[in-house]
Amino acid sequence: AYQRVLEINNQHLYPPRTAYFAEPLLLHQGHMEWLFDHEGNRYLDFFSGIVTVGVGHCHPKVNAVAQKQLGRLWHTSPIFFNLPIHEYAEKLSALLPEPLKVIFFTNSGSEANDLAMLMARAHSTNIDIISFRGAYHGGSPYILGLTNVGYFKMELPGAAGCESTMCPDVFRGPWGGSHCRDSPVQTIRKCSCAPDCCQAKDQYIEQFKDTLSTAVAKSIAGFFVEPIQGVSGIVQYPKGFLKEAFKLVRERGGVCISDEVQTGFGRLGSHYWGFQTHDIVPDIVTLAKGIGNGFPMGAVVTTPEIAKSLAKRRFCFSTFGGNPLACAIGSAVLEVIKEENLQENSQEVGTYMLLELAKLRDEFEIVGDVRGKGLMIGIEMVKDKMSRQPLPPEEVSQIHEDCKHMGLLVGKSGIFSQMKKKRQSG
Ligand code: PMP
Repeated sequence: AYQRVLEINNQHLYPPRTAYFAEPLLLHQGHMEWLFDHEGNRYLDFFSGIVTVGVGHCHPKVNAVAQKQLGRLWHTSPIFFNLPIHEYAEKLSALLPEPLKVIFFTNSGSEANDLAMLMARAHSTNIDIISFRGAYHGGSPYILGLTNVGYFKMELPGAAGCESTMCPDVFRGPWGGSHCRDSPVQTIRKCSCAPDCCQAKDQYIEQFKDTLSTAVAKSIAGFFVEPIQGVSGIVQYPKGFLKEAFKLVRERGGVCISDEVQTGFGRLGSHYWGFQTHDIVPDIVTLAKGIGNGFPMGAVVTTPEIAKSLAKRRFCFSTFGGNPLACAIGSAVLEVIKEENLQENSQEVGTYMLLELAKLRDEFEIVGDVRGKGLMIGIEMVKDKMSRQPLPPEEVSQIHEDCKHMGLLVGKSGIFSQMKKKRQSG
């Protein structure tokens, strides 16, 4: 059966699933944190379908709610009322701080960010949008200009009016800096020139101001940010950076968008939303992945004032967004997070893992850094700690495969393997 699946994959499917694992698993079943392949082998799932299945595969409560709604009503379109969307909107908005109270539903993270970009432009009446280098905000043509992980852009034309600015990366940025002082794990800094977190922040802020003063960003519409960058390798910023950056953007008429597609719904442990870990309140929040625990779903939450900018144009974004099935599932996910104290669990288990992984970092030269928050954790693989040169991609892939053979599924992220491929192809 596996051979036949491989043939169909290679002939008819894009993207080829073999881009990630040389021999991808043929998955048949999932139960909570476990996945089972076609031969019945069991795997502990640490990557949860790219940071998505937050409450567990086929969670019994979510399944029961989905089955009930499936037998009742799937789809209405936005021209009718349905109870699941109204119940869900009330529950979700209660979890967000004032003035973030108006919700637009979508089907994915890319769509949510597309819509947020449109809102930022409609509201500010400006065009230019800024994001960090290394950011991932989606793959649709509109949002692609803000996705600055090199290999996702390739030679594709990006959206006009999008500007990338230097990412204040505490591990790899030019001014380094230690991790936020509230992290249980501190970066090992063998390089004596690396300043501390606050000094690094000031340097990065100066750089950010430079970007804002360039012609393209003079009339800024918005600034998109992931509270922790996921796709480019669990990248964290110096403490206090985002607070100052938000202020600068707002002073220039732009709105601030927190992309919570990976960091939302309690994953970071200490707080329900990633923006809260930076002590900021954005003007727009975008959600996907964990919102539906794997069911296609996304949302944009904003202020009544910004929402009006689109509403007054009688704009309807999606036929499917907020359909009764998705919203019933979304409600069940919120209940499970609460009933099973999953945010507290992220904090407790995440802190334990960070501390235990830091022991590996202290012991092994190739473990350059251990970082993250709650259950969004990254291990930076390097040739050696002093140079911080990335471990060759083949070696990282081998570790990844070895984990799979030992029954553990982990994700791979970062920018280095793809940069190398690009260089090789000229
Ligand atoms: N934002 C972030 C932070 C993401 O990680 C992703 C997906 N990796 C997206 C947006 C896009 O989401 P989707 O794949 O659902 O379009």
